[in-house]
Parts: sequence; structure tokens; C-alpha cells
Amino acid sequence: YLMMPIRELVSAVTEYQVGSAAVARIQEAHALPTEPERSDAPGAAAPLPTVGAQPRPAALSFHDVHFRYAPDLPPVHHGVSFEVPARGMTAFVGPSGAGKTTVFSLTERFYEPTEGFIRLDGRDIRDWHVAELRAAIGYVEQDAPVLSGSLRDNLLLGAPGAPDEQLREVLRTTRLDPLVDRLPQGLGTLVGHRGTKLSGGERQRVAIARALLRNPRLLLLDEATSQLDAVNEAALRDTVSDTARTTTVLVVAHRLSTVTMADRIVVMDSGRVQAVGTHTELLAIDPLYAELAATQFLSEA
Ligand code: ADP
Ligand code: MG
Repeated sequence: YLMMPIRELVSAVTEYQVGSAAVARIQEAHALPTEPERSDAPGAAAPLPTVGAQPRPAALSFHDVHFRYAPDLPPVHHGVSFEVPARGMTAFVGPSGAGKTTVFSLTERFYEPTEGFIRLDGRDIRDWHVAELRAAIGYVEQDAPVLSGSLRDNLLLGAPGAPDEQLREVLRTTRLDPLVDRLPQGLGTLVGHRGTKLSGGERQRVAIARALLRNPRLLLLDEATSQLDAVNEAALRDTVSDTARTTTVLVVAHRLSTVTMADRIVVMDSGRVQAVGTHTELLAIDPLYAELAATQFLSEA
């Protein structure tokens, strides 16, 4: 099987309309679906050029969002509201099917709320150019895999022109430099389904590195549910906390070690926000949270 980070790829490909051979090969090999059409609102601001290495982190808020995937399907969100300030880390937790991943899909405008609205950086996301919105967001899907090609190809997929200096910095942030040192051809080593197999934790950090190289103002990370060894778990934790110092990070978290370091935790259940607070606060006030914490969160398939 091969799970594709389809959305991440579509974003990257749409944004850059790339002539990159690596992207063309990947598109060809995996017959990527075209993204749902989104037109820009009449007054939508023109895309801004990316300036400098570190763009301003963006706040995100949901305002009474209702949503269903199709008219004949039951609603998934029944009035979801929350506010996430710029910078720092927010963890989303809750049982499988609660609507956590859907929060991310709506934020990227892969779908539109049926009622309510979403603001990024204080602006309704319908007033953003879709390309500008997608460029502002780094999305790491659950179980985002490493594709075929070299490690360098995999990292630069969404940002072919990223300078070496930034690549080195991102490798440090994601704790991937020991891996690069260990691989026989370093960044040129073939990885993925035809090359060196990377561990689950390494794959996840490659996906995060790929997103960070695009300088996102908001990073959405749908944490993988696979078990990690202690070293990989610590590396992931350090990566996320480093990243949250300079950008806004939202994590759908399946690991107690990720959740406990969040600045705030949003507990979702059945399409609603059930509680918001810190780990200690929620343990005291929210029985669902206490139960999830007791089982270490990893139960979701
Ligand atoms: P979580 O991430 O909390 O497990 P999701 O946001 O993925 O929950 O899903 C919430 C609900 O929406 C679930 O009932 C799921 O089956 C449904 N759902 C998710 N994605 C789709 C889709 N693309 N089409 C139809 N239903 C979906
Ligand atoms: Mg999910």
C-alpha cells in the first residue's frame, strides 16, 4: 500500500505550477486527483510574494462552523468554535470520528462550511486568494509517507528553490541531521518504496521538514498513530516545540507526550468542541479527556 500526502502535494503543485521533474514524475506515477475548484471572492487580496525566511505566524479561529461532507450525509461539525492565537502549539484531541481532521480540511478550504466562518490572520478565509491561503499553510497529513526519489527530492518537493542554508536549518529543527549523516549518500540517498526504508518517526519528520521549507504561517500536523520508539518520540516532540516558537502549530495529537507540551488543548467529541484548557485543567474538569489521557491517546485507528 502507499498512502499519499495528496493534499500536501496538490497544494505544493498548485502553488508553484512547477516545472520540477521530481513533481512531474510523482504526479505521473500516482495520477494525482485535481483539487476541488475554489474561486476567489471578488475583493480577494492578491497573493503576496514570500519575503524573507520567517513570515509572520497567523492566528486561526472557527466561528460556529457547521459542516457535512455531502447533503445526504449526516453533519460532521455542529457549531465548532475556537480561537488559536498566533504562535504556540494547540493540540486537538478526541475519539476517532470527532471531526478533528475535518478542522484541517476546512482550514485549507478543501471543503466549505455550510454555516459559520473561519478566519486566518483575522481575515475570513473566503477573502484570501486560494493560492495565498494554501501558501500560508503547511499541512502534514496523518501517516504522510516518503515518496520515491532522493531524500533531497522529498524535502524540496514543495519548495524547489529553498536555499541550502534554510535546508540545513530545517534538518536541525526536525532532528534529521543524524539520519542524513547515517545514510550512505546523505541527502542524495534514495528513500521511500524503492530505496532505504525510513522508520515511522523519520518519515513523519521528513513530512514536517517538507512543510517547514515552505515557510508556513500556520502548520497543521495530523500526528501519525503508529507507535514510535523513545528516541523518535523525543525527536518529534522537540521538533514540534521548536517549530511552535516561531509559527502557529495545530496538532491532531495521538500521543500523551505531544499533548502535555501544548499551550492549549481543544477536546472534540461528535463534531463539537467539548472543552479547551491545559492538560492539568482538563484532567480536573473533563472526564472524556481524563479517559483519553489514561489510555495514552493512541487508541485511534
Ligand atoms: P477525526 O479526525 O476526529 O477522527 P474526521 O474529521 O476524520 O474525524 O471525520 C469526522 C467524520 O466525518 C467521520 O464520521 C468520518 O467518517 C467523516 N468523514 C471524514 N472524511 C470524510 C469524507 N471525505 N467524506 C465523507 N465523510 C467523511
Ligand atoms: Mg483524523
